Amino acid sequence: MVVIVPAAGSGERLGAGVPKAMAPLAGEPILAHAVRALVAEPRVGLVVLAAPEGLEDDMAAAAAANADGVPVVAVTGGATRVESVASALSVVPDGFGVVLVHDAARCLVPVPVVSAVIDAVLTGARAVVPGVPVVDTIRELEADGEGSRTVDRSRLRAVQTPQGFTLEVLRRAHASADPASTDDAGMVESLGVPVRLVAGDPRAFKVTTALDLVLAEALLSGEEA
Ligand code: C5P
Repeated sequence: MVVIVPAAGSGERLGAGVPKAMAPLAGEPILAHAVRALVAEPRVGLVVLAAPEGLEDDMAAAAAANADGVPVVAVTGGATRVESVASALSVVPDGFGVVLVHDAARCLVPVPVVSAVIDAVLTGARAVVPGVPVVDTIRELEADGEGSRTVDRSRLRAVQTPQGFTLEVLRRAHASADPASTDDAGMVESLGVPVRLVAGDPRAFKVTTALDLVLAEALLSGEEA
């Protein structure tokens, strides 16, 4: 199976001064951790990265050094996540029936989450996302932008990656994509394809801010100890 890794984000919110996937975490780029986590699932047979323009070779090298012999291909990403995934998707060979899409920024995803997503696609789901319960009480703004109401959080899940799809469904979704989509499952849902939820894991959180990096460092040093 092939994993597309969108890694072309600027990382502005992280403020590391380099694109987020190359920001150091425990002495290695975030991307290196992400690739190691993915190839630890033995069914992953190809990694296709979307890198910021000019960083394709550096990122391919950082990924390959941590890919345990799994082939790595890097393409130039786009201005949005949707464009980056589409660019990676365009080089995925037809022979792969299942494709995963995993944010480089979710670099500590545990292997069982990756396996659960793959298993769900292989047992008939055309679109699969890992999700975790929402811990905060959530309020939704009314249309006037001032009033608000509480949403029943017991029915909510925060969506993570990797998300898994049949190659056919993901290609179809990207052929008519809303450029502002924040994930691929949302695009697939617009086609009327049901999206199956499997259990995610808090450790698959997305490194977005400097605080997230502190948490990731702490988790890694805890593992070493
Ligand atoms: O911005 P956000 O944190 O939602 O990005 C999620 C993932 O999408 C990150 O791994 C980021 O590198 C990637 N991305 C991308 N191309 C963009 C924007 C984000 O590959 N233009």
